[in-house]
Amino acid sequence: MRRTVFNEDHEAFRETIRAFIEAEVVPVYDEWFAAGQAPRDFYYKLGELGIFGINVPEEFGGAGLETHKFEAVLYEETARAGVQFGGSGVHVLLALPYIKMLATDEQKKRYLPKFVTGEEMWAIAMTEPGTGSDLAGMKSTARLSEDGTHYVLNGAKTFITGGVHADRVIVCARTSAPTAEDRRHGISLFAVDTKSEGYSVGRKLDKLGLKTSDTAELAFVDVKVPVEDLLGEENKGFYYLGHNLASERWGIAFGAYAQAKAAVRFAKQYVQERT
Ligand SMILES: Cc1cc2nc3c(=O)[nH]c(=O)nc-3n(C[C@H](O)[C@H](O)[C@H](O)COP(=O)(O)OP(=O)(O)OC[C@H]3O[C@@H](n4cnc5c(N)ncnc54)[C@H](O)[C@@H]3O)c2cc1C
Repeated sequence: MRRTVFNEDHEAFRETIRAFIEAEVVPVYDEWFAAGQAPRDFYYKLGELGIFGINVPEEFGGAGLETHKFEAVLYEETARAGVQFGGSGVHVLLALPYIKMLATDEQKKRYLPKFVTGEEMWAIAMTEPGTGSDLAGMKSTARLSEDGTHYVLNGAKTFITGGVHADRVIVCARTSAPTAEDRRHGISLFAVDTKSEGYSVGRKLDKLGLKTSDTAELAFVDVKVPVEDLLGEENKGFYYLGHNLASERWGIAFGAYAQAKAAVRFAKQYVQERT
């Protein structure tokens, strides 16, 4: 059956990505695999290609589109070549929807131009050593300072994709205790600058798959987060997380489809080469 979902622009993008992978990724992929991550500089190349800006408004340096179709092509082409672009997938798939949905104009002006070029890579930190599926149970805290200029962030996160290379991480932390009626109340989101004092990256975790994706532990000890880096409203973080899960699930589902399709292609190739 012929697909009609992609148009000429998507197919031109496919050609560009295929050639880029051949030239820039395949020759060095074994090295990335062994290192357990893609090199940080590679993300600047993705920025130059325009991959990070597809869904970013033009006024902030992007192409101003609202579509998952180019990402879909990207998933298909990386799977087809048996490679991954490190942990960069979360930059666009996970972090960007939060910036677009929650950032003020002032924040967008600060964040998005560097987001598009790859100068600032983003990740998102929800999971904690004792809290995975049950996000309402998270223990990290962000306490507003007495003078109201910043929050003081303490806690730890784990399994954070892109955590080694990230320049900004959307950290979810408790700004107030849960209420008796609603234990999801009291979580807030912060765009934390990873160069802040007290912020540290722990182990890069070894995994069975996703070998070039830098998945890390993070720790925060009295990290000062300016109030200007609160994303959205205080205490409403859980609802923002719930809202954005749909697009994350789209990415996981489409990635699984693309890899299954590539596996069939690899199997056919294998058989053809031996008959
Ligand atoms: C490769 C990788 C990358 C990741 N990247 C990120 C990231 O970038 N940012 C981030 O914040 N997190 C990330 N995570 C963490 C991921 O979101 C968590 O692993 C996930 O939320 C599940 O949490 P857990 O591993 O603690 O499992 P648990 O919550 O302990 O769950 C274990 C099992 O129990 C089941 N279970 C749990 N609660 C219930 C219940 N009430 N009823 C029935 N069954 C239940 C679950 O379905 C699961 O099968 C990543 C994880 C991996 C493996």
